[in-house]
Amino acid sequence: MRILLVEDDPMIGESVCDGLRAERYAVDWVRDGKVADATLARQVYDLVLLDLGLPGMDGMDLLAAYRKRGGVAPVLVLTARGERADRIRGLDSGADDYLVKPFDLDEMYARVRALLRRHPVPQVVAASAAGVPRPILAASPHAQAPAAGLPRPNLAASPRAQAPAAGAPGISCRGLVFNPLTGEITFKGSPLRLNGREYAVMRALLDPPGVVVSRERLEALLVKVDPAASGSADREVFMLRNKFGNDFIRNVSGAGYMIATE
Ligand code: CA
Repeated sequence: MRILLVEDDPMIGESVCDGLRAERYAVDWVRDGKVADATLARQVYDLVLLDLGLPGMDGMDLLAAYRKRGGVAPVLVLTARGERADRIRGLDSGADDYLVKPFDLDEMYARVRALLRRHPVPQVVAASAAGVPRPILAASPHAQAPAAGLPRPNLAASPRAQAPAAGAPGISCRGLVFNPLTGEITFKGSPLRLNGREYAVMRALLDPPGVVVSRERLEALLVKVDPAASGSADREVFMLRNKFGNDFIRNVSGAGYMIATE
């Protein structure tokens, strides 16, 4: 699995780069938009982590140019721009997901894994033949030999090394299945795409389902995910109800919200 990290901030770049390499991904890091554009034009990547404010070329323009050339790798945008209009523009330009800085590295890993799973390496998909869905592990970076010089993978600590599907740990509730190891959420069998704020709220409500989470706690989580955005837990619950149905999340008067488990 080869990832291109496009980030001009040395501290963020270094921590993301080190973190991903420790998770056994091959990472190329470029700090300039034009260099990134040239790199993407000649090299195939499995995933791109893209900052928006870049020297040389704006990340949004870079993304649009990449998609226009037919670039298909999933793009996870890492940005300090929390404005709704910016996010919508980014998604319209072909971003697959968003993380607003400052973000949690664990959340970033979960999103990287989820994106890679949704966009498996083409040859791996082709090899599965026979119409039987191939276990996600086939596309896992851990299924490949570690690159020379990298420490041995710590399989016990690697979520991708765990058994797929059947034995997978997870929280299951009214058609929703949440895998806490990968961060993936499926609803009625289909993977569901949540933005960072929705994901933070859903994750809190799922821990465990049926327990009331106060509005204050949800709002504290939301500020952590996205300090720039205004709005409240109520708004995110509204958005989640649009996805899961109105009766999925119950408002417990004066206390907060909970997932209605029955
Ligand atoms: Ca930047």
